[in-house]
Amino acid sequence: MPKYVYRFCEGDKDQKDLLGGKGANLAEMTKLGLPVPPGFTVTTDACRAYLRDGEVPDELAVQVTRALREVEEELGRQLGDPDDPLLVSVRSGAKFSMPGMMETVLNIGLNDSSVEGLAKVSGDSRFAWDSYRRLIQMFGKTVLDVDGDLFSSALDTKKSDRGVTMDYELSVGALQELVSEFKEIVRKETGTAFPQDPREQLDLATEAVFRSWNTERAHIYRRREKIPHDLGTAVNVCTMVFGNMGETSGTGVCFTRDPSTGRAGVYGDYLVNAQGEDVVAGIRNTLSLADLEELDKVSYDELRAAMRRLETHYRDLCDIEFTIERGKLWLLQTRVGKRTAGAAFRVATQLVDERMITIDEALTRVTGEQLTQLMFPQFATGAERDLLTRAMPASPGAAVGKIAFNNEEAQAMAEAGISCILVRRETNPDDLPGMVAAAGVLTARGGKTSHAAVVARGMGKTCVCGAESLDVDAASKTLRVRGHDGVFTSQDTIAIDGTTGEVFLGDVAVVDSPVMTYIHSGLEKALEAAPDEDTRELVLAVDRLMQHADSVRRLSVRANADTPEDARNAVARGAQGVGLCRTEHMFLGERRQFVQDLILASTDEERVAALAALLPLQKGDFIEMMETMDSKPMTVRLIDPPLHEFLPDLTELSVKVAVDKANGVLDPADEELLHVVRAHHEANPMLGLRGVRLLLTMPGLIELQVRAIAEAAVERLRVGGNPRPEIMIPLVGSVRELQIARDRAQKVLDEVSEESGMDLSFPIGAMIELPRAALTSEHIASEADFFSFGTNDLTQTTWGFSRDDVEGSFFGHYTDEGIFGVSPFETLDRDGVGQMVRIGAEGARATKPGIKLGVCGEHGGDPDSIQFFHSVGLNYVSCSPYRVPVARLEAGRAVILDEVQDEAQATA
Ligand code: PEP
Ligand code: MG
Repeated sequence: MPKYVYRFCEGDKDQKDLLGGKGANLAEMTKLGLPVPPGFTVTTDACRAYLRDGEVPDELAVQVTRALREVEEELGRQLGDPDDPLLVSVRSGAKFSMPGMMETVLNIGLNDSSVEGLAKVSGDSRFAWDSYRRLIQMFGKTVLDVDGDLFSSALDTKKSDRGVTMDYELSVGALQELVSEFKEIVRKETGTAFPQDPREQLDLATEAVFRSWNTERAHIYRRREKIPHDLGTAVNVCTMVFGNMGETSGTGVCFTRDPSTGRAGVYGDYLVNAQGEDVVAGIRNTLSLADLEELDKVSYDELRAAMRRLETHYRDLCDIEFTIERGKLWLLQTRVGKRTAGAAFRVATQLVDERMITIDEALTRVTGEQLTQLMFPQFATGAERDLLTRAMPASPGAAVGKIAFNNEEAQAMAEAGISCILVRRETNPDDLPGMVAAAGVLTARGGKTSHAAVVARGMGKTCVCGAESLDVDAASKTLRVRGHDGVFTSQDTIAIDGTTGEVFLGDVAVVDSPVMTYIHSGLEKALEAAPDEDTRELVLAVDRLMQHADSVRRLSVRANADTPEDARNAVARGAQGVGLCRTEHMFLGERRQFVQDLILASTDEERVAALAALLPLQKGDFIEMMETMDSKPMTVRLIDPPLHEFLPDLTELSVKVAVDKANGVLDPADEELLHVVRAHHEANPMLGLRGVRLLLTMPGLIELQVRAIAEAAVERLRVGGNPRPEIMIPLVGSVRELQIARDRAQKVLDEVSEESGMDLSFPIGAMIELPRAALTSEHIASEADFFSFGTNDLTQTTWGFSRDDVEGSFFGHYTDEGIFGVSPFETLDRDGVGQMVRIGAEGARATKPGIKLGVCGEHGGDPDSIQFFHSVGLNYVSCSPYRVPVARLEAGRAVILDEVQDEAQATA
């Protein structure tokens, strides 16, 4: 029979899976000899059995009896004894804290007779009857599913009838009446009487906690916090101690350091003559710990000693719930406290300075997510907001501006110095100028890897996407929001929060992030700009941990950068090279025409002319990039997207031709163009003529791009530069494709080398974006100087998910169903796509042990994915310039976390 029940004196802090966080920590505190009221924990195993079978396992009741008897013997009192009742609390406690998501029932064991006993032994009838009414209220609501408002309104009515405002001002008589009224509510709502048998109360409350695991709000919380749905919760049954026994009693929460700022020094709230949730519920103004010191020095000193003891024991910021019962301190809960991102960095380095942890450990106490939060501009806390809608938080930050419906508006506003938010149904490469001009981007369609999301993240621009309730009419330049009156125009201001996905109407104050100043302008400038000591300490903490991460990490960090400006940004943030320069972006705007000419060319001469027009432009791009990235590797990916992206839209052109034809004004060039557009149309362009396939079938394209790279390099070499381009072929599926592309590229390099007399031995490598490429990596590696895993496409092709469509359509449903916790386009799916990367890397190294392996998909900047890439032994990750610092930090953390894991395995 599984052991379903553990006394607090049996477990320890490492048993969170089984005892939940609260249970494990109660056990640990008991072990430390701290004043914890006796009790026991019902395991998560029991909860899972209940959730699986729909009923409490038989054995549980027996084990509960044994544990309860032991507690009773220890205290010399019995649960619900009419003369001197032992009372218990029943609290949920899962492995991960889910504040307020599940239920607590206090004062179990009270009934019509034990309430009298309690009154007698406590000498306080008011207290006894108040405890009883609380039990019926909490039990009724939580266990019996009675509408909680019925109890609160009865309580309110009673207070107003008696002319009082505070609960504690109600007389014994009033409380006795309330108890009767509450019992009547229970009888009326459930058809049965409030259970008088203490053990029945305990069993029903335990079952209710099990059930509360599956409430809607618990589900929503777990989804947001990425907590698996199958963990279940433990149940803690703890002897009641009372903070509501008069003026020498009270209840409080305290932190060993300030969890919100990270400031050293204790912090806490205390409420005199109160019980349980009263402190957090904000019913009355709380006192500070300093006030407590004045009120009750003995308890205060004991609390401070316990705080110090716990912090030393856990070697981290702890939060503690305590109760003082008639001058006696009891600790009811502790845990390593949740904290803000800023507090995480500060506390970690404080603990290093206090010699409590090593700097290596400090690195494990902060995360890339936290650094990200610290880098984005923020809406000022406490600012007034008017929520319009909520959608997908695609690129964090806070942006405020007037609504711009197109490029022209956005650019005009930017030029006039007016901040704007580009609002589109969805974006495509044509919207780039508007995105650049805008402070943020809001779309009605598309997911986290939609064009808007990817580009905005790449630019470090705030973006909220997939806001389905928006009706964006670009033609009439109006925005409607379902559920809101009114039509918004470019005269209206909105604010978007890319961290929460919220969209607000009107202005919301934004503040600059000091950590961003540090990343941008260095330590000295950031310290100069810091408005106070707290900020200085934060900046110093971030700097210290970043430096340590850089000193230990094995992964290099490169950036995905298509323009010299991106590249400069990336280098400023510590990028060691460019891991992906997407060259198709260089063919947009005015140059689109030349690409169209190339596609439309019907003779060799026309084609050669179009290529010749493109060559100097491409070369110019590369010269500037190479100058920016001098001496650093710069991976140039040859053109990838299908050609139709450079052609007019098929539907629009068809309509124009049809209309013009009907009106007798048809331009034959349009008809010809339509013919070509039709010929290039593909049902599934992502799986069509793109990448290496396009390079192999469109004569002259490889030669153009490689010549531009080679000639640019020659120019840089002539002025003493050190260009280090690496030529990358996208979407390779077979070694033969790579071989042909490589031979053609090499031929051009050789030609230019001969023409210039310069050594142009640049690496030529493959992007691994298809399962076939990963599975045949041994062969492909024979023709490649390096691999770069394009995990965006590799995710798309491994799962068979269209990256442009799926996130906005059914991913919400998939996460609800637990098919995955987070989109595989955001965090690498280790089990599937990760295996492809692993197989690809192993195959490549089998053929060429020293081959350089990198990753350049969006996952290159994702903390969890970076941990994985480190474990597979890749050489570098490449991510958007904005995420470079995050990648540096995570790459450092990966080394330490790996060591921790190895040590754990060695001792196991
Ligand atoms: C990829 O597929 O991971 C990649 C980096 O290429 P793109 O996103 O341009 O297809
Ligand atoms: Mg790709």
